[in-house]
Amino acid sequence: MSTDMHGQADMSDGIFKDNCITQVAATICALLGAGSLSEAGDASSLSEAGDASSLSEAEGADKASSALKASAARPLSSVLTAASSAFSGARCDRVFMYNPDAIAWWLYQKYKAYFAPLETGCVEAVRPLSKDSGADKADAAFKAGGAPLMLEMCSVVPPKTPVCFASMYSGLTPEEHGIRKYEKPVLTVPTIFDALPAAGKKVAIVSTAGDSISLIFLNRPVDYFIYKTKQECNEKALELILEDRYDVIVLYNGDYDYWMHRVTPTGFMARRALRENISTYCTLRDAIAENWQQHKTALAFAPDHGCHAKFGIPPGDHGEETARDMNIAHWWSFL
Ligand SMILES: [Zn+2]
Repeated sequence: MSTDMHGQADMSDGIFKDNCITQVAATICALLGAGSLSEAGDASSLSEAGDASSLSEAEGADKASSALKASAARPLSSVLTAASSAFSGARCDRVFMYNPDAIAWWLYQKYKAYFAPLETGCVEAVRPLSKDSGADKADAAFKAGGAPLMLEMCSVVPPKTPVCFASMYSGLTPEEHGIRKYEKPVLTVPTIFDALPAAGKKVAIVSTAGDSISLIFLNRPVDYFIYKTKQECNEKALELILEDRYDVIVLYNGDYDYWMHRVTPTGFMARRALRENISTYCTLRDAIAENWQQHKTALAFAPDHGCHAKFGIPPGDHGEETARDMNIAHWWSFL
């Protein structure tokens, strides 16, 4: 056998390769018709699906494409295909992003029962359209009845919170957006919080004081709802859903990460936070289903990176280029 068949396992073994969190920014823009669809070849099924407001959307897209950087990663084709199937080719007019912190792929594997409420009828591990028939599976499932779509996602290096959310909402690599370690400067590169308002979208950020999402996206033409506690954030998010004033809502919950660092990723308080994150998302999803019936909504449970247990202080951590810290799952629903 050749030696390369027995090559020593390197640290990046098993890290997901097909989908990266950098693709979320362009996905959100494309779902709303507020991105540079001409650059997103995969999005042709959406761009061909014209409707009555397509002219104004095209104008918005032009404005937004100048606001979102050209080097931003391409949209997730599976998500666009699923949305197109769910809404018969029409665009979304609402996006709700739920960002729990540090929910690793391996946690999903270990505690599948916790995730069951996210997964009823779920389509697993759908690959990009060009790679295999995953998109066809998604298409069939969504035509059949709106099952959630689960995607294996890769985080960015180093997998630390401000680095990851900067990539998720700018579409850029850490080298491109400039946050390459645990620091929280206000980003100077274009993000969805620039591109979406430029396309006429109203955006709300709901997050806890001092955390990455509350700080690195400041000075944008969006509304910030920053509170001391997770409970206040979640109550505000529910209130915003009922008021129906925003096209896009981003909600951050950092409690799993907080407990994971202190009691290990599988400690009692961490597992309680994980269950609460899933329950919060499902509560908000149900509120959207009930109160946004006149809208076409894409919503996602979208963590930033994974985590691992270790000996020493702290007993839980993340930040390494390993499958445990890099591999996560995102769940998308279309209501
Ligand atoms: Zn994080």
